Amino acid sequence: TRRPQLTADDYFVGVRDRNLSVFAQALTAIESSSPRHRPIAEDLLTRLLPYTGNALRVGITGVPGVGKSTFIEALGMHLVRRGLLVAVLAVDPSSGVSGGSILGDKTRMNELASEANAFIRPSPAAGTLGGVANKTRETMFIAEAAGYDVILVETVGVGQSETMVCDMTDCFLALMLPGAGDELQGIKRGLLELADVIAVNKADGENRKAAELAARQYHTALESLTGHDREKAPTILTCSARDDAGIESVWEAIEKKCERRRETNEFVERRQRQNLRWLWALVDEHLRRSIQTHPVVKQIYCDIEQQVLEGQMPAAAGARKIFSALGLE
Ligand code: GDP
Repeated sequence: TRRPQLTADDYFVGVRDRNLSVFAQALTAIESSSPRHRPIAEDLLTRLLPYTGNALRVGITGVPGVGKSTFIEALGMHLVRRGLLVAVLAVDPSSGVSGGSILGDKTRMNELASEANAFIRPSPAAGTLGGVANKTRETMFIAEAAGYDVILVETVGVGQSETMVCDMTDCFLALMLPGAGDELQGIKRGLLELADVIAVNKADGENRKAAELAARQYHTALESLTGHDREKAPTILTCSARDDAGIESVWEAIEKKCERRRETNEFVERRQRQNLRWLWALVDEHLRRSIQTHPVVKQIYCDIEQQVLEGQMPAAAGARKIFSALGLE
């Protein structure tokens, strides 16, 4: 049986009232790739925009197995107990390509999922990582308009996904594994530039000492990178998501970083920069789709692709051919 079609007003009022059924349908419209849903989604986003921006947006990354789900569940429960509304979103680089999922089944966060004041949404499945990130960003805006106070965006330490999540959040947390020395090799310079807080998880039982050692090593490594600049340097902590130990300290470190940024206006400026980058990312995506589906380009691009693929034509010349077919320089 088909549900009756909601009007734009129904969506707007339902999201603002945090009517969970309407909220879920709004997110389905946002995530949908059907052209029928796009105008509804865009209209809704425009109307809800004045009600967004009030949440604290936190990105959380880490390799599979580091304990992201366990950590987010523990942190989420702390926040819910404080009376906050918590939304957990995900950007999974594997969700679009293979329909697979590195982040796994989010029903793992059973306790948090059963809280009325928490909301967990698995990664949208869009064609490209950029597409997944764009939809997650829109979902975040809808969740803010619905009154969620904290948005946690989970991702994995794979390729571009960390950069994308960092670019939609106010603060970025990297979870690390304890281990002797070799995790320092795994620490990518890029990640250190993104992370505001680094927490070595699994600091419990036999791992405790190794976790503390790892934290000290990160500290030393970071000092040499950031040149003792305390403002810039990530805060480094240890925690145990399993034992629910040190989670509050991680949250305090996140809040502190955000407070500092508010004092200097960096908080607002960061969001403004993010919005502008988002604008152009959407233009890029739209432009590319329009070009690829343009009737003239459609006739020639397979041939151009083939020649570039076989190394018979430089990519730059191929791109130029496509533009000139469109009458563009
Ligand atoms: P994710 O893949 O990053 O989401 O990691 P999970 O949260 O699924 O955790 C992976 C495994 O590590 C599970 O078996 C957890 O029980 C375990 N784990 C998570 N956090 C901790 C922790 O703080 N201490 C210990 N000892 N194990 C943990």
